[in-house]
Amino acid sequence: MILRTDGIVIREQNVGEQDRLITILTKEKGIIKGFVNGGRNPKNKNVAATGLLCYSDFSIEKTKRDAFVIKEATSKNVFFSLRENIISLSLAQYFAELTYELAPREEDSSEFLSLLLNAVFLISKGTKDLRLIKAVTELRMLSISGYMPSLVACATCSRYESERMYFDLNSGELFCEECNLNNSLQKLSLTTVSAMRHICFSEPQKIFSFTIPEGDLSDLSFVAEIYLRNITGRKYKTLDFYKMMTN
Ligand SMILES: [Zn+2]
Repeated sequence: MILRTDGIVIREQNVGEQDRLITILTKEKGIIKGFVNGGRNPKNKNVAATGLLCYSDFSIEKTKRDAFVIKEATSKNVFFSLRENIISLSLAQYFAELTYELAPREEDSSEFLSLLLNAVFLISKGTKDLRLIKAVTELRMLSISGYMPSLVACATCSRYESERMYFDLNSGELFCEECNLNNSLQKLSLTTVSAMRHICFSEPQKIFSFTIPEGDLSDLSFVAEIYLRNITGRKYKTLDFYKMMTN
């Protein structure tokens, strides 16, 4: 059986002397691992389109042993400019690792794929603040994969907004000024809360389209990253590397 789909390579490893095993986020079937036979030979016809973060058209064969083999790959976008800047590249690699952790298996993942592609495209374009791209991508990936924070209203009294609001970095719940009874909650301006609501609730094509003042952007970045670390309960090597490069 041959599956034809487009997808982006989110992980790669060498196998044996000659082959590579790549992990692709495909549109039709979520995450798939496939062998590139002879993929360690630079002259192999599929090498260019099967590198990390390449967005390509794939023909994938399912073998009798239930393994997948990449028969053919044609690149649609290799995001060349990413590779010229180590900070941009490391952020894109973090998004690839997050995708591996959060994206669907064996089911349609068009929304997840288009989010990842938009995020990587914006990094490579180089015109938007990387902290904003990072926070939007983190919160939206979490939202798509079942970890959306509860941002509609105060978790206690259902009030929609107050001048300051308070966010629980572990549970993802929001509280108003009057219901802020726990000193450990993260204080946020209404601007930051509105940005978080925009990221989680807007149409996919609108999520990156907003601007936010510097102080609020720094709160947004902090909240998105810490909530992500807490709710998924794991460490991300690529995130640690990105932080090391940017601090
Ligand atoms: Zn309240």
